[in-house]
Amino acid sequence: MQIFKSISDFTLWRNSIKSQNVGFVPTMGALHLGHLSLIKTSIKSSTITIVSIFVNKLQFGPNEDFDNYPRSLEKDLDALKKMKVDAVFLPTQEELYNKSYSFAVSENKLSTKLEGASRPNFFNGVCTVVLKLFNIVKPTQSFFGQKDIQQLMIIKKMALDLNLNVKIVGCKTIRNSHGLAMSSRNQYLNNEEKLLAANIYLTLQKTKQLILNGEKYSEVVKFFTNSIKKIGLMKVDYISIARLDTFDELGDNDSLNEKNVVVSCAIFLNKIRLIDNILI
Ligand code: AMP
Repeated sequence: MQIFKSISDFTLWRNSIKSQNVGFVPTMGALHLGHLSLIKTSIKSSTITIVSIFVNKLQFGPNEDFDNYPRSLEKDLDALKKMKVDAVFLPTQEELYNKSYSFAVSENKLSTKLEGASRPNFFNGVCTVVLKLFNIVKPTQSFFGQKDIQQLMIIKKMALDLNLNVKIVGCKTIRNSHGLAMSSRNQYLNNEEKLLAANIYLTLQKTKQLILNGEKYSEVVKFFTNSIKKIGLMKVDYISIARLDTFDELGDNDSLNEKNVVVSCAIFLNKIRLIDNILI
């Protein structure tokens, strides 16, 4: 497994790759089974698989956890080596955003909603780093988790709107045995909190059932909010039932029981913010 820390070293190696089937999995590290499943999917469908690890300061708000974000580089590299990833790219903050750096990629529709409404600069930070990484890594396909469904749809839209020659592949959410979606931030939770947090997905599943039964929007939202409230220690940041392609919120006059509808939520458990979603 090749490990590159500078863009020039990486580029030298990348230019030697003749394959037209290069898979790329961008991550912020602290790798868990969710990341590993994206990497497995890439390895299965690509001749070459490249993984990047970069904790992207640009997508963190001023009061968010950039400094404390979990970092476990040695362990991550061991896992990637075992999986026989071809190359790992570990760019530095100084090189990706050098002192004179003054650009950003912004999306003006999808990213104003849900996660974007709660975290104002988040998607600009994500789009900027992903576009930069695509330009350096030059993948033919790149893999993103449905766990971050809005991010996945925004990256798909970026590839379309900016004519990027990269196929964006969505991969299913990997959960622990209780249903809690794997996340690097789960490390902030103790065992008791992890069990409580598993109720988020259970509640999403019950919410989906209500939708399939034909319940109307306001009743479904009420059910979700009350169910989370009853569990205790958790607070709903948002609950949304929206069209997947636009994240336009639905309402009582809309049919929720449609294929392109997604229920997404962000929940505070004490101070930890967790997101999850379920497709209808
Ligand atoms: P992150 O390191 O959190 O930026 O995530 C890197 C990639 O892994 C993103 O495409 C995420 O959507 C994806 N990912 C994170 N958690 C999961 C999960 N539980 N299941 C599937 N994909 C995930």
